[in-house]
Amino acid sequence: MQDCLFCKMVSGHIKPDIVYENSQVLAFHDINPQAPVHVLIVPKQHITTLNDLDGSHTALVGEMLLAAQEVAQQTGIADSGYRAVVNCNADAGQSVWHIHLHVLGGRRMGWPPG
Ligand code: 5GP
Ligand code: ZN
Repeated sequence: MQDCLFCKMVSGHIKPDIVYENSQVLAFHDINPQAPVHVLIVPKQHITTLNDLDGSHTALVGEMLLAAQEVAQQTGIADSGYRAVVNCNADAGQSVWHIHLHVLGGRRMGWPPG
């Protein structure tokens, strides 16, 4: 997807601050962090929203969650705790139209989220 910000990061045209990468996912620091640790995990394949996932993505979604675990360990928040969140569409506040898993930690978080 030529006009997709996160596809440009996957292709290397824009260089994010990378935390973790494997053949299927890329993880990088959010530019506007909402917690001391705020990392985004994106699939290298363009998928627009959570609604666009289907059975062909089952393993990829697993890779995204395993990447969250890896990022939490690398950034030192695995034991203190963290949140892994996907925002889907307008009510959730999705603003980048390439699916991504937010990994947030390093502070106490409230529930329910705002
Ligand atoms: P959403 O609101 O779609 O769930 O999350 C999009 C996230 O992407 C936001 O947390 C926002 O700060 C982050 N973001 C937007 N533009 C950039 C960018 O150019 N670089 C990085 N690293 N993060 C970005
Ligand atoms: Zn994309």
